[in-house]
Amino acid sequence: MGKLDGKVAIITGGSGGIGSAAAKLFAGEGGRVFLVDQDPDALQRTVSEIGAEQADCMVADVTDSGQTQGYVAAAVEKFGGVDIALLNAGIEGIITPITDYPDDMFDKVMAVNVRGVFLGLKYVMPAISNRGGGSIVITSSTAGIRGTTGMSAYITSKHAVIGLMRTAALEGAEMNIRVNTVNPAPIDTRMMTSIEEQRGLPAGDRSNRPMAKALPLQRYGEPEEVARLMLFLGGEDGSFCTGGVYMVDGGVSAGPRPM
Ligand code: NAD
Repeated sequence: MGKLDGKVAIITGGSGGIGSAAAKLFAGEGGRVFLVDQDPDALQRTVSEIGAEQADCMVADVTDSGQTQGYVAAAVEKFGGVDIALLNAGIEGIITPITDYPDDMFDKVMAVNVRGVFLGLKYVMPAISNRGGGSIVITSSTAGIRGTTGMSAYITSKHAVIGLMRTAALEGAEMNIRVNTVNPAPIDTRMMTSIEEQRGLPAGDRSNRPMAKALPLQRYGEPEEVARLMLFLGGEDGSFCTGGVYMVDGGVSAGPRPM
């Protein structure tokens, strides 16, 4: 028996590194997954790997209100309802100081990472309520609890979704909807490679990357390690967890590794 037998999960950013790992883990636990992302080929590849009985997808932009209503309605239509949502789509923006940061890039990062989560909550909470309750997991970051140079938009956005999560947890409680954030970093996906490249860091082997060396466990996390926390919070293992901020970060938020 799987931990998600009979459950339906919407996953935004569902063909990305963390989203597709979560989709495969959730399906392996008996859940059905509805993936939302912008790249039709990547979406289809992930659906094919899981199998059409348990997975479907839709190309949608999470910043668009109509498309958000559309993906929630399509998931309900396809699988009969929604129990879990992983609001996980995100972009990193560019890395440059605030004094040089382009206004339009700031707006773009905030649109995907914050407005996208707000719209997801707005339209998925009624659908989950119709099932008698469920769970929503928002992907924040260690960038949601501390700062770093050059990433003002990303840092701001990942702090902001913790505020959204706390509001949604309080409002969702009476609908039996739990809402939490997972706060990863650094996880070995396209996004982390982009951040390394933008910072001009050499691409070493996994144990030798400079950013990995700075954290207590001295390695990058795998997308599956985030997915397992999403499974805990999304399913019944996390039945008393709501309004929480859950780190999955190799110890980086605890402080620097001793020299
Ligand atoms: P990723 O780039 O592989 O996945 C992000 C996905 O979001 C992509 O598939 C992308 O197409 C999708 N997306 C972007 N804009 C979208 C839009 N407007 N509408 C729909 N989909 C859109 O990176 P990832 O590491 O898997 O990131 C997933 C989440 O994890 C993001 O929210 C990211 O900020 C967060 N995160 C990642 C790390 C890390 O170290 N990789 C650390 C902390 C937090």
